[in-house]
Amino acid sequence: MQGAFIAGGALGCLSMPTDSLLLAGSGLLILAGGLLQALLFYRCPRCNRVLNTRMRKPAFCPSCGQKLDL
Ligand SMILES: [Zn+2]
Repeated sequence: MQGAFIAGGALGCLSMPTDSLLLAGSGLLILAGGLLQALLFYRCPRCNRVLNTRMRKPAFCPSCGQKLDL
């Protein structure tokens, strides 16, 4: 089932490379943008302080102590 789906996707990519590249490119951009935003601009919901989530997700806000459910 999954193998057939992957094979079909690969065939689709080969039959129309430009469309697929565009689609894949925009998808990647959106994904990267969302990741970047989550990684760089995650803010505490209470005090709105930008939290550094690059190292490890903090359990509590270092500024106000708000518990963070990520
Ligand atoms: Zn806070």
